[in-house]
Amino acid sequence: ISVSDLVDESYKRIGEVEGKVQAFLTLDEENARTTAKALDEKAVQNGPTSKLYGLPIGIKDNLVTNGLRTTAASKILENFHPIYDATVIQKLKQAETVTIGKLNMDEFAMGSSNENSGFQKTHNPWDLDRVPGGSSGGSAASVAAGEVLFSLGSDTGGSIRQPASFCGVVGMKPTYGLVSRFGLIAFASSLDQIGPITRNVEDNAYLLTAIAGYDEMDSTSAKVDVPDYIASLNGDIKGLKIAVPKEYLGEGVNEEIRKSVMDALAVLEQLGATWEEVSLPHSKYALATYYLLSSSEASANLARFDGVRYGYRTPNAENLIEMYKKTRAEGFGEEVKRRIMLGTFALSSGYYDAYYKKAQKVRTLIKQDFEKVFEQYDVIVGPTTPTPAFKFGENTSDPLTMYANDILTIPVNLAGVPAISVPCGFDQGLPLGLQIIGRHFDESTVYKVAHAFE
Ligand code: GLN
Repeated sequence: ISVSDLVDESYKRIGEVEGKVQAFLTLDEENARTTAKALDEKAVQNGPTSKLYGLPIGIKDNLVTNGLRTTAASKILENFHPIYDATVIQKLKQAETVTIGKLNMDEFAMGSSNENSGFQKTHNPWDLDRVPGGSSGGSAASVAAGEVLFSLGSDTGGSIRQPASFCGVVGMKPTYGLVSRFGLIAFASSLDQIGPITRNVEDNAYLLTAIAGYDEMDSTSAKVDVPDYIASLNGDIKGLKIAVPKEYLGEGVNEEIRKSVMDALAVLEQLGATWEEVSLPHSKYALATYYLLSSSEASANLARFDGVRYGYRTPNAENLIEMYKKTRAEGFGEEVKRRIMLGTFALSSGYYDAYYKKAQKVRTLIKQDFEKVFEQYDVIVGPTTPTPAFKFGENTSDPLTMYANDILTIPVNLAGVPAISVPCGFDQGLPLGLQIIGRHFDESTVYKVAHAFE
């Protein structure tokens, strides 16, 4: 099978289902076909040069791609064509994958359902009346619908794992600092991580291998060696110690999900692991801490969208200040504005100590909860989400109910540790996800457990 055949298949499938799923904001068909042809010609002489050679991939639209429209699903970047590639895109080019197109998301990655996209609603391929999750909803839906083999997403508070769970695919949020954020349109810089969404754990490990590693262009990039993740996929979890936080199976977690986690633990026990209940006592503060810190960082990061340097500028302003104000008022959506206001308030003098500084302290306590558990256990296991995919409109009237959907994924970002979501059963025909959380930079053990379970 040639690369051109694979790319053909991808666009054929997109032609069949995209009208219903609507995962893509931009398709890059002409370039993809040219790349495929070039790779095929090269392969005749040299054979495939990488494990990912010629495989069709989709990219979340907050990763900048040289010459290819990048919007972060915001009207303010509607016609933005970057002049460079994100580091992960450069790495994918080295690995010789083929970019099929750019995927829908919540505007600037703020949301849990893709209903905050400035452009379109992506539908869950398992039930078109339901959301695909978010913010990497297009990334998860496109893989679940077979439009691409795999995709990249980003995860600030659950945006890879929650949509992976809702769409029945595998999503990994790596350790903070493992994957370069250079060229990721920033939401909350101390929490954002790029990661792979795939159909199975092995593909996921290959894709992470390709994008991970130190990058001098990202000051928070970690100087660590990327281990051989594939070698850890040996099924051997004998003697492995699993912690199950009681806070992750408490109130608000749906009964079927609790049951599926218990079934998963039984499978892991059969394979030789043991599990015990533990406590992450500061979990109850995670949501408040996250929304305060992430909105504060967002208010600073989004200051650059001023109508001068990027994208949209209002056509009807009389002077500079009015131009700034109108550009931002017209360009940003409701949720983005809500967070900019919340963040600006929390950072303003007089409130900084009471809110931002306090939240930073609580973040440290949450991180210490994890460190304590990891002194005795190899991984933490629980559900990815408290409910399966919900219907469009179900959580839009009250932002707080939407925020509550991230209660199980957010602590992981605050602590900076890696976590994966793998499919673990169904509730009324809708996929559920098992979340496996590991120590800092111990993606190998996370993959090992996920692969053994899968
Ligand atoms: N849903 C969360 C939010 O709205 C997480 C988003 C994300 O991880 N990018 O902030």
